Amino acid sequence: MKIHEYQARDLLRSYGIPVPEGRMITSIEEASAAFSEVTKDMGSPLAVVKAQVHAGGRGKAGFVKLVKSAKEATEAARFMLTNRMKSPQTPEEGLEVKRLLIAQAADIADRAGAKGAKEEFYLAVTTDRASKRNVLIASREGGVEIEQVAHDRPDAIVKVGMHPIMGLQPHEAREVAFKLGFKGKQVGQAVGIMLALAKLYAEKDCTLAEINPLIITPATSDAPDGRVIAIDAKFSFDDNGLFRHKDIVAMADPTEENPAELKAQKFGLSYIALDGNIGCLVNGAGLAMATMDIIKHHGGEPANFLDVGGSASEEAVTEAFSIILGDAAVKGVLVNIFGGIMRCDIIAQGIVNAATKFKNPDGSTGFKVPLVVRLEGTNVDAGRKLLEGAKDKLPTLQAATDLTDAAKKVCAAVG
Ligand code: GDP
Ligand code: MN
Repeated sequence: MKIHEYQARDLLRSYGIPVPEGRMITSIEEASAAFSEVTKDMGSPLAVVKAQVHAGGRGKAGFVKLVKSAKEATEAARFMLTNRMKSPQTPEEGLEVKRLLIAQAADIADRAGAKGAKEEFYLAVTTDRASKRNVLIASREGGVEIEQVAHDRPDAIVKVGMHPIMGLQPHEAREVAFKLGFKGKQVGQAVGIMLALAKLYAEKDCTLAEINPLIITPATSDAPDGRVIAIDAKFSFDDNGLFRHKDIVAMADPTEENPAELKAQKFGLSYIALDGNIGCLVNGAGLAMATMDIIKHHGGEPANFLDVGGSASEEAVTEAFSIILGDAAVKGVLVNIFGGIMRCDIIAQGIVNAATKFKNPDGSTGFKVPLVVRLEGTNVDAGRKLLEGAKDKLPTLQAATDLTDAAKKVCAAVG
């Protein structure tokens, strides 16, 4: 699960990481008041208007704008709320923007000795599967070019593996702060932020906690080294840990998720859309992968990965069909069930029910695409008998004797 930047900022703040003040708005009309509110204590008011979508690359797409007046804030809000945002991280048609963040703009200090460059850093915690540890990832070259930096100059990225129980240690964070070039009072601030981010990551069961950029503000009389603050953040959470984080679940924005995947989640199905044209309905992740492999082996392309789980109900099977057939690219369906905990007669009944209920775009009911079914295991005879008896409801059904037979039949059926 992901959250928006304005929520990520709240989370950072709750762990003591400094973030400029901001307001979330959902309409153009709110922009003016939000601007006045967040800039009321600033000598010369400056705010930043930012699209709130679950994708990055906003700066380069024109969806992060610095504004000096309520009027400019309103114009920026109008642009962002009436245009789709397109970046390398969005689908081709872009994303509709429904929320904006209006925040106090931060001044970013110039980087000494690097003409035109600003003090922008990258800081993240994630899990490194290879070393089986959480890692702190940091770079002096933060900002909008970080992907390029990681690709061209991997040596500009610092990585620290953390002890599984002890977590990030202060001396490790200090070493990173020095490597990144923090000086004087900045070091303590950067260390505090790194330790807080690592703690947040562990406590909230994150899969990614990222600050980009972390910046240094210009020197002032009461802060001669400037201040280290976060001005953008991104979080992903482990879905399997969400049951113990009601506060995080409350931040979910269903309008930002893939509708088919959301529906699947609701019925306990694991569904991932793919590019092919053969829909797959399988029980068990391993069997689902084997099914996809054998489809490919016989020249076909799977349209999805769908695991109905070990104990799916008739209702879940019905939903699974509606999700698979909701994808217009699907030209044939392969049902591959090995009945263990799951009984084949339940699946068969689910198939019959789904066929009876399924509505085509033209209003007719029933499956139009070829359906190949391979059942094996618990109650298989009862399952086969059920399908046999419902032939009138399943005119496109072909029974398969084994997995190879099933793959061949469905590949032939879709051409
Ligand atoms: P992203 O492009 O989606 O990652 O959006 P960011 O919030 O990271 O903004 C992109 C870039 O805009 C940053 O790297 C900064 O250079 C700039 N930027 C964003 N917010 C501010 C701000 O408050 N003040 C200044 N001076 N620049 C900002
Ligand atoms: Mn950013």
